[in-house]
Amino acid sequence: MSTKFEKVTAIRGMNDILPGESWQWERLESILRTWLAQYGYLNMRTPILEQTRLFARGIGEVTDIVEKEMYTFRMSEDAEQLTMRPEFTAGVVRAAIEHNITYDRPQRVYSMGQVFRHERPQKGRYRQFHQVSIEALGFAGPDIDAEQIIMLSRLWKLLGLKDIHLELNSLGQVEERKAHREALIKHLEAHIDVLDEDGKRRMYTNPLRVLDTKNPAMQEMANNAPKLFDFLGEESKAHFQEICTRLEQAGIPYTINPRLVRGLDYYNLTVFEWVTGSLGAQATVCGGGRYDGLFTLLGGKPTPAVGFAIGLERLLALMEQAESVSAPSEADIYVIHQGDEAARRAVQIAELCRDQGWRVIVHAGSASFKSQFKRADISGAQVALILGEAEVKEGTISLKPLRLADNGMMLEQVTVSQDAVVAELQKRI
Ligand code: ATP
Ligand code: MG
Repeated sequence: MSTKFEKVTAIRGMNDILPGESWQWERLESILRTWLAQYGYLNMRTPILEQTRLFARGIGEVTDIVEKEMYTFRMSEDAEQLTMRPEFTAGVVRAAIEHNITYDRPQRVYSMGQVFRHERPQKGRYRQFHQVSIEALGFAGPDIDAEQIIMLSRLWKLLGLKDIHLELNSLGQVEERKAHREALIKHLEAHIDVLDEDGKRRMYTNPLRVLDTKNPAMQEMANNAPKLFDFLGEESKAHFQEICTRLEQAGIPYTINPRLVRGLDYYNLTVFEWVTGSLGAQATVCGGGRYDGLFTLLGGKPTPAVGFAIGLERLLALMEQAESVSAPSEADIYVIHQGDEAARRAVQIAELCRDQGWRVIVHAGSASFKSQFKRADISGAQVALILGEAEVKEGTISLKPLRLADNGMMLEQVTVSQDAVVAELQKRI
């Protein structure tokens, strides 16, 4: 007796993207690639698995990601620890150093694909999700920071998004942060009674992160904390000012948010987020900033860099609210046939049509005309080609329009010789 096999389901927080929705992904990816090419960004593909050390170092030990969100394992007891990438930047910088891709000039690169974080799944927050991650490697000036923000503003326009807003801050440089840090720790010590577990644990290791809290009880303490901005030197302020000037020239509104520190440790100077009011609690669609110290942190030569990542699930959710685009058809032509001879001839004619670049579905298997027409209609094809026994005998083929023409008229069904089918289709597709 065989035991019943218990059905296997997908892992919680990891979504299947089904044929009915994948067209939205492909459409978005194609818009993104065209947009990235417009700004000179080239694609870069790094492995999904990296050594755990890379992320621990590159993202920072005292971060949500490294402390509790990484998928980490070893293949055997004495093997190195591996981690499924929770973001792209660390891997891209690792590869940039390894292949020395910035040795003769700076590089604009992007990556797109899955990332993994073990978080509590909810709307807009998954355990496998997708990012497009953009990095400008080897650029020091504020011009490139501003260019990336202007570039994002163009993307929102391309996608028809309106409810999306820029928040901006500067984290200054290491020494400036040090002075601020001392003042901040004093402030946290004075308010230790309102700090939660995480806050108390991080107040000496990463006090800036304590302000990046979602705990309502800590908001007032965070709002009254010493502002990093007041500790910035002339150069840092000038960098930030130049970005603001360029954004104003480009007509891009922004809010300076002194509390914006971002979850990742490696940022300096510019940090920014694009947030929306349309997605509930999961409001951040894009986050980025400058990370001039990351190359040296990972053992490379000093290389200034700036970048950002967009969460594609959140972006698609926002697009779905903003626009109503219907699914594209599956084919231009659907070939219907009856009888063995017709079935074989149908394949030959379909190949001739594909030579013209058309998308063609040949009905698979045999079925009544009625049910084949039903399938043809569902496919969204403009024209059904019909090969019945009569057509095969006479060397003809029938064309039945399935959709209205551009002028709103329904064309007539015609029967032509099989040699003339391509010419006849050219008039209709
Ligand atoms: P959050 O504060 O929402 O956790 P984050 O600061 O951890 O975001 P980043 O590391 O900056 O996010 O990642 C960039 C973008 O990736 C986010 O702005 C968001 O759009 C998306 N993102 C982050 N985590 C998830 C997730 N678990 N599921 C879906 N999208 C996510
Ligand atoms: Mg997070």
